[in-house]
Amino acid sequence: MTLATARCIALAGTEGHLIDVQVDISAGTPGTFLVGRPDKAIQEARDRVRMAINNAVPSWPASRRVTILLAPADLPKSGTHFDLAIAVAVKAADRTRPKDGAPDHRIEQAALEDTAFIGELTLSGNLRPVTGVLPMVLAARARGIHRVFVPEPQAQEAMMVPGMTVFGMRSLAQVVAELRGEDVPAAPPVEGTTSARLLSWRGQDLRDEVDMSEVEGMQEVICAVTVAAAGGHHIMLSGPRGAGKTTVAERIPTILPDLTLEQSLEVTAVHSLVGTLDSLVTRPPFFAPHHDASRASILGGGTGRARPGEVSLAHHGVLFLDEFPLFRADVIDALRQPLEAGEVSIARGEESATYPARGMVVLAANPCPCGNFHAQGSVLTCDCLDAVRRNYQRKLSGPIIDRIDIWRELQPMAGHRGRDPFAHRRTSAELRSMVSAARSRQAVRYAGLGFALNSAVPGPVLAEHWPLPDEGQVLLDDAMSQGRLTRRGMTRVHRVALSVADLAGREVPLEQDVETALALRGSGPINLEAMSFMELAS
Ligand SMILES: [Zn+2]
Repeated sequence: MTLATARCIALAGTEGHLIDVQVDISAGTPGTFLVGRPDKAIQEARDRVRMAINNAVPSWPASRRVTILLAPADLPKSGTHFDLAIAVAVKAADRTRPKDGAPDHRIEQAALEDTAFIGELTLSGNLRPVTGVLPMVLAARARGIHRVFVPEPQAQEAMMVPGMTVFGMRSLAQVVAELRGEDVPAAPPVEGTTSARLLSWRGQDLRDEVDMSEVEGMQEVICAVTVAAAGGHHIMLSGPRGAGKTTVAERIPTILPDLTLEQSLEVTAVHSLVGTLDSLVTRPPFFAPHHDASRASILGGGTGRARPGEVSLAHHGVLFLDEFPLFRADVIDALRQPLEAGEVSIARGEESATYPARGMVVLAANPCPCGNFHAQGSVLTCDCLDAVRRNYQRKLSGPIIDRIDIWRELQPMAGHRGRDPFAHRRTSAELRSMVSAARSRQAVRYAGLGFALNSAVPGPVLAEHWPLPDEGQVLLDDAMSQGRLTRRGMTRVHRVALSVADLAGREVPLEQDVETALALRGSGPINLEAMSFMELAS
């Protein structure tokens, strides 16, 4: 009996687990047995790997009993990326001497130490790209692995992980030669990928193309989105068609600071699960799914292997849901978890995956399906039936809306022109540096606590460690006793008040910051005098 072990990584969401692929070759009834909770794709690996070995590095030990164990056995495993580890473990376990004159493809176990193998094999023995290389390599590094073999097109992606030696390979023959210390044979580039390409997103482009200073006469709204950006608060923009909701929403990524290296790796790891990447995602992503989009595309899941949805692809960025009331009811309902917990869990059969989803959610809604109801200064008239309009507006209440910290009502531009109380319109760069400074204050305040932004502070922690000053608390108590705030709503106003204070550079919110936060939640007019810090000193 001979035994060899090669390492691979199983993914559950973006979390990776190191898997020992143990191959045992012994006398006995010939056959191949794959054990350790493999899914269907891995079961098929048995035949794929046998063909690949016979065609590329002959030959498969056909007259022996080959047992492939994926350990730990209790962890569910899925995907086709185990092929390469299985193949090299078989070549290391098979001690059969080649026939006279035939090349020797045997591998020493020692060559497999400190190394992870990732890749799908074709029947001819070429290596095909797989999804999720970055989170797999991150997991390998976390378990002390320093070398990784990946399909050549994904070498760049694997190299994003500091301290990892990466071998980008085109074929099984190349991998075996490398492990034997021989000259690596030539191989043609590998065509095609097994998965969808990276979804396009416009975080970077938007920053180059648009600027908040282009938004005219909407200083209240810009104050509101700046507060939202500072504390990572979810926000609702409501108002008739043409009021500029999309114009503002699309510019929110431009006032968010660059991702930290840690955030960058987290976001890129999620993106790696849906396609191949050639560089780190360094700007906050922006996703704006259409209201017809399926639950799987927004929340994650889908047929075959679970994959993250746009709410996770927008991690640390912005998810914009325009015409929110038109989204499918099951989508709206399922948004509750990411809005509250900052992550999404997808359970399908034996597989359960959790993806991060800590982006800002920006909702927009018209006052009615046609979008013209109550449009001040508009020549357009609403032609919706009363019942239709009521049904639409009913969707603007309930558990999702309760999780929105800031609500702004926008009016068509015409009603606003000339009302610009600040000296000049802030540029995105100016707002971004204010947001950065506010976020730095939060980072210091919450250092070591497992959350970084005001929007993520648990209510009880907030009340105990960062209580509002008495006069601010009185405002909230009054609002609650008058039925204008729920207890959950009170916690949300408290968080927003902290963000207002952070923007103003105050350690503790003043009464006026609590007032501003209340106005931001209730869509009342903001006292722009109290937001005078929005006016830059220059
Ligand atoms: Zn209408």
